[in-house]
Amino acid sequence: MQSVAIIGGGPAGLMAAEAVVQGAGPQGINVDLYDAMPSVGRKFLLAGKGGLNLTHSEPVESFLSRYGKQRRHIEPLLRAFGPDALRAWAEALGIETHVGSSGRVFPAGMKAAPLLRAWLHRLRAAGVNFHTRRRWLGWDQDNALRFVTRDGGEETVHADATVLALGGGSWPQLGSDGAWVPLLAQRGVPLSPLRSSNCGFDVGWSEHFRKRFAGTPVKSVVASLPGHHGAQRVEGEFIVTETGVEGGLIYALSASLRDEIAASGAVTLHLDLAPGRELPRLVEELSQPRGSRSLSSHIQRRIGLKGVKMGLLRELVPATDFADPNRLAAAIKALPLKLIAARPIAEAISSAGGVTFDALDEHLMIRSLPGMFCAGEMLDWEAPTGGYLLTACFATGRAAGLGALRWLREKTASGTGPE
Ligand SMILES: Cc1cc2nc3c(=O)[nH]c(=O)nc-3n(C[C@H](O)[C@H](O)[C@H](O)COP(=O)(O)OP(=O)(O)OC[C@H]3O[C@@H](n4cnc5c(N)ncnc54)[C@H](O)[C@@H]3O)c2cc1C
Repeated sequence: MQSVAIIGGGPAGLMAAEAVVQGAGPQGINVDLYDAMPSVGRKFLLAGKGGLNLTHSEPVESFLSRYGKQRRHIEPLLRAFGPDALRAWAEALGIETHVGSSGRVFPAGMKAAPLLRAWLHRLRAAGVNFHTRRRWLGWDQDNALRFVTRDGGEETVHADATVLALGGGSWPQLGSDGAWVPLLAQRGVPLSPLRSSNCGFDVGWSEHFRKRFAGTPVKSVVASLPGHHGAQRVEGEFIVTETGVEGGLIYALSASLRDEIAASGAVTLHLDLAPGRELPRLVEELSQPRGSRSLSSHIQRRIGLKGVKMGLLRELVPATDFADPNRLAAAIKALPLKLIAARPIAEAISSAGGVTFDALDEHLMIRSLPGMFCAGEMLDWEAPTGGYLLTACFATGRAAGLGALRWLREKTASGTGPE
């Protein structure tokens, strides 16, 4: 019987395994899934902790635009298995999905565990063999796959096709540690360096500000970032951290922020702390006599700014500007926040970079390593949070699994493969 090895048991690898077992003909195919960790799907389970955002319900055009430069590579895969197909798939597993107020799609109960449990049950019943605590080490001289086993020994496996779904480099304690990068680089596979995506950034707060505000959310702000293709504006909230900023609004801009820091050493984001209030109105309010009130209570009374927003003004605006209503109002509408470094990849929600699409054919097979397919976050694409990450992991996993099946069939048809 033909055999497929899937290495990596995250959403992409599990979906590849499913595509192979479901698509295998009556003769069947041995599907063995290997993972370095004691159990599969650890990052998927973690993703479910804060509410598993499976996908997004927005119109397909805006959904596809989230993949930026790599849209042209991801689009055909999402057209084959996109948000609606993913929701139908979850529902077939007995997990209803619902659309939140932001348009994000969540499973009933918000957690990943019931979905993963039902899925693993179905995969086992369909014949997928799971091998945990098997760390892939590359290939031996006969091109067999090398694994470290649970007792520290080594075993080799010959497979007729292999799907690598080893994840990116974020949260390495959950299994995806990017250790595959040198293994593929040694085989000449074109790679783009792994980088933090959907990550926080360092600012370098003063001790006073850090002590007072680390951990505090900054709500209802608009951040703008000038760029070669027009300014990006994102409305939302972020969190002040010990070293800088993180959270939804920052993640949404993180690819551009990271790239600008890499190019220029720093990037300045402009924050509108009072969206919905026009500049002339702010100037007028701030120009009113403040009597015996402190400047802080004057600003709070007239503009409504207090707490961490007031702290940000104090931290980032020169003291002399506070006496000038025009300058102060301008700072409230466009507070310059200089970011000096992206947080390390280990802390990021996801990673950018990986196996480049040039290295792959349209079925996600590595052109230079026939029979070797890649899927999931280890491919060179990135997307913001909002369900876009998992959707593309599922879609690429399915495409790689189907690609492996197709390749085996072609081998059989041409008489070069095992029956
Ligand atoms: C805190 C957090 C919250 C998130 N929330 C969401 C969300 O709500 N929505 C969303 O769309 N995305 C979310 N994500 C991102 C999403 O979880 C990932 O993009 C997704 O899990 C990647 O899937 P994958 O299958 O490519 O890789 P992974 O899930 O990383 O799986 C890779 C697997 O490969 C195994 N592996 C790695 N190296 C080896 C090796 N050498 N040998 C054997 N096995 C190996 C690992 O053990 C792991 O099981 C979140 C991520 C984090 C960190």
